[in-house]
Amino acid sequence: MTNNHPLSHRAPQNGLVWFDQDLRVNDNPALHQAAQECANLIYVYCVDPDWWQPLHWQCRRIAPPRERFLREGLTDLNEQLQIRGAGLLLVEGRPADVLKHLIKQYAVSRLYANISGSVYQQQTLNALEHAQPEITVVACEGDTLWREAELPFPLEQLPASFTPFRKQIEDQHLRPPLSAPKTLPPALCVGQAETALKRGERLQRSGFCGGTQAGKEHLDWYFAGGLPKHYKQTRNALDGWDQSTKFSPWLAQGAISARQVVSKLREYEAENGANESTYWIYFELLWREYFKWYARRYGARLFRFTGTGKRKPLTSFYPERFKAWSQGNTPYPIVNACMRQLNETGYMSNRGRQLCASCLIYEYQIDWRYGAAYFEQQLIDYDVTANWGNWQYIAGVGADPRGGRHFNLDKQTAVYDPEQRFIQRWQGHRNTAAMDSRDAADWPIEAPK
Ligand code: FAD
Repeated sequence: MTNNHPLSHRAPQNGLVWFDQDLRVNDNPALHQAAQECANLIYVYCVDPDWWQPLHWQCRRIAPPRERFLREGLTDLNEQLQIRGAGLLLVEGRPADVLKHLIKQYAVSRLYANISGSVYQQQTLNALEHAQPEITVVACEGDTLWREAELPFPLEQLPASFTPFRKQIEDQHLRPPLSAPKTLPPALCVGQAETALKRGERLQRSGFCGGTQAGKEHLDWYFAGGLPKHYKQTRNALDGWDQSTKFSPWLAQGAISARQVVSKLREYEAENGANESTYWIYFELLWREYFKWYARRYGARLFRFTGTGKRKPLTSFYPERFKAWSQGNTPYPIVNACMRQLNETGYMSNRGRQLCASCLIYEYQIDWRYGAAYFEQQLIDYDVTANWGNWQYIAGVGADPRGGRHFNLDKQTAVYDPEQRFIQRWQGHRNTAAMDSRDAADWPIEAPK
């Protein structure tokens, strides 16, 4: 293979960029650094077969809407790499196995990744560093607005709730996003394995198309008109493409970065003026940022029943109730409509997520982790830190200073869907059957005479 990259006069250094939740070439510090330091690179994404293995109560890690969105994102990333003289290697296999094999086969000496806050990613990096001390693992910080060293407190002293975090950080200087490298070192190997990411192809697209190009178009569209000026008034709506920003799927995939969004927001404010609504977009991005650091701070405690504290919620697991909830078959039409929307499109509004989580935990008394696992499977914008952090918050085992959020579903319906249009649109009929038809021994429960 000929090597015409500008750095090729240096001693050849084989590197590997492991893409995970950072499917972009713009504002990608790991890619940027790798391109400066290595003569040849492998640009790899691993499709983990474990994603399709049943986990908790038959939940899997990924459902067809996100599969489709991911496949689109990977196709786009490959194109972006090809334009710059490289290309993506898409491999089906557990990341630790795939990376180990590639490192050995291609004598890789440096591995680059952007830290996503995922415990699995961190475990894989730690295991590789331990098993192969000859390689240097370069962990970059490309998923958060700030680097750890830029936080105004040590990570161990992350405020226990959002408000003090926001107050300390919101005026902190923000570096501008990095631009994409014009050219990239040649790829040591490329190829698109026939992956399991196929089932999503058969789906109707819900308006979201994965990848940087679509994400950037959406970002430009959102900031082209008057929507940001009314965000605070519209953001709580249950439905509607333009009621909230809908940036989350692209942010979760890493097709756009949070710093790119803030930079676009600042441009908008400079041209059109800032108001409470434009501030509120930043405010919500700070929630994202908070949960990113929260996950980094607490690691695997994100998945613990007692969360970051010691209090055990008074909940358990009821298969029948869980099935009714996940299929949108509860006595609460608003919850049913939201769950049906989620199952069909992979998206649900923030308000809807709060109501469905509250219903699972407080009306159905189900262990919050089953709800989080179901959202993980279904959400097109699934992000480990935002999802598990928000579920902990509502269950009262995480960052909520009020100790949990129990919503009155009738009142919420009256406020957010007074004419029941959303309920009708998503066919959220009330299920009048008893909550439990079988007892813990699976014995039919007789109706009282
Ligand atoms: P907007 O209202 O336009 O907000 C702008 C951006 O701010 C979002 O794109 C998102 O990046 C961020 N943001 C807004 N609210 C939150 C929040 N509460 N926590 C963290 N970030 C926030 N968000 C995810 O991205 N992935 C998830 O897996 C996820 N799971 C959730 C589970 C539950 C139970 C709840 C209550 C919330 C969850 N959220 C999650 C947060 C929030 O619901 C979504 O980010 C939001 O609905 C996405 O739509 P949007 O982009 O139009 O948001």
